[in-house]
Amino acid sequence: MTDRLTPIVIVGARGRMGKTLLREIIISDSMVLEAAVDRSSGPGLGQDAGRLAGLHDLGVAVTDELRPRRSSVVVDFSLPQATDANLRRCQEAGVPLVLGTTGLHKTTRDLLRAAAKDIPIVSAANFSVGVTLLTRIAGLVAHALGEQWDAELLEIHHSHKRDAPSGTALRIAKAIAKASDRDPETSLRHDRADPHARPREPGEIGVSVIRGGDSVGEHTLMFLTDGERLELTHRATDRAIFARGALRAARWVVDKPPGLYTMSDVLGLAGLS
Ligand code: NAD
Repeated sequence: MTDRLTPIVIVGARGRMGKTLLREIIISDSMVLEAAVDRSSGPGLGQDAGRLAGLHDLGVAVTDELRPRRSSVVVDFSLPQATDANLRRCQEAGVPLVLGTTGLHKTTRDLLRAAAKDIPIVSAANFSVGVTLLTRIAGLVAHALGEQWDAELLEIHHSHKRDAPSGTALRIAKAIAKASDRDPETSLRHDRADPHARPREPGEIGVSVIRGGDSVGEHTLMFLTDGERLELTHRATDRAIFARGALRAARWVVDKPPGLYTMSDVLGLAGLS
């Protein structure tokens, strides 16, 4: 990490995450907003990015052209349809990319791997520092306990969430499976509340879901055995955690060699066993 201000380009600036990212940059003393980009259709193009974020004028107008300067980092939280073009722009300009957009197509994931030969990229479907650590800890605990302790995961999200279980819950469950030599495709069990459900089988990893209210996201992981139970919980109360994690990744990646990195790399966990 360097002492100078890291220039950041936000892509998807008018979106929920975009505005949160803008606010976090404005209140930070280690970053400066270089550009704010969004698509050409819709209101708000030409508007001052600071105003858009609900704060003071910054003198940076929202534009529909992604033209990053070499010293900057692009942080993209937009839509999967936009990712291929944004990726190419970063590759051509030789600038690092932090990619938070989810639901990427397979062809885009292939492009991502290819582009990472030329530029450093941090890609994560969840930029929360706490969730990254929970996923890591889940694997370590599962490795130590094996199948002798029953693993059950419960996730809670707001009532508008479309997908269930959450992508994060699936990643945690798969980390448990991988760390304890279970097949992630066959060991996950989603039907605990089914009236015709069969009893628990050894080695299963149960994934249960609650939807309601305005919960930003909770994941509780339980390891159960006769006479004791270990519980690990992450509770998100503010979407800003994703923005803060992504901007931490941006400051980290700025001087890294080309490669495809994760939040575990950013947190220095990748080499630890
Ligand atoms: P949103 O719909 O509020 O915002 C998306 C923004 O992208 C909009 O302003 C839209 O106009 C803009 N956009 C669309 N096409 C574009 C293009 N071609 N160029 C530039 N901008 C374009 O969505 P959101 O809630 O802000 O989420 C954005 C993305 O981030 C989603 O994929 C979401 O799943 C993901 N997300 C990831 C994390 C994480 O931690 N990785 C956390 C939250 C959200």
